[in-house]
Amino acid sequence: MEVSWNFRFGIVILGDSAVGKSSLLHRYTEGIFDDSRLSPLGIDFKVHHVDFDPGIVVKLLLWDTAGQERFRSIAKSYMRNSVGCLLVFDLSQRQTFERICSWQQEVLDYVKPNPMIFLLVGHKCDLDVQRQVTTEEAEALAKKLNMVGYLEVSSKDNTNVSLAFQNLAQGIYNQY
Ligand code: GDP
Repeated sequence: MEVSWNFRFGIVILGDSAVGKSSLLHRYTEGIFDDSRLSPLGIDFKVHHVDFDPGIVVKLLLWDTAGQERFRSIAKSYMRNSVGCLLVFDLSQRQTFERICSWQQEVLDYVKPNPMIFLLVGHKCDLDVQRQVTTEEAEALAKKLNMVGYLEVSSKDNTNVSLAFQNLAQGIYNQY
């Protein structure tokens, strides 16, 4: 049955391969983490509803650009219809953090002149012993790039997964 909603936001999930984008979407929409699951080829799409203030329901249209190196041109067409973006890096792979700025630039270049709201996700925070990026430097980057915030998330442990989507949706909601 179709859930009634007051607002509808398109959201894309971007970041390097293997940072855990599809695991994040799967955990959020299905409530499951499965280490043996294969990333979908191409684009994955899910719908999820978020309750905001009393009586306000937001419908999130969520696009996971798995395999984006090969499917980048398709991914771009979904960006055009989106208003928010989760930019994801892997806390245990520093090079994925160093690519965040260019991911954001690519999105901004594509959606221009429309605005896009970004939230930075430091993923796999359960792997704390292998951490290669500090909380402070990730927070500083999110601030420098005008994002609505930074969160450390684990799809494996289910840490801050809903909060990441909720905070991004709240950031979009505040903008409109
Ligand atoms: P994608 O290519 O960005 O969509 O990444 P995947 O979702 O396919 O995940 C890549 C690998 O990271 C897989 O082996 C996942 O099981 C693993 N992974 C995903 N999320 C987490 C997490 O929160 N913690 C840990 N330790 N591993 C994760």
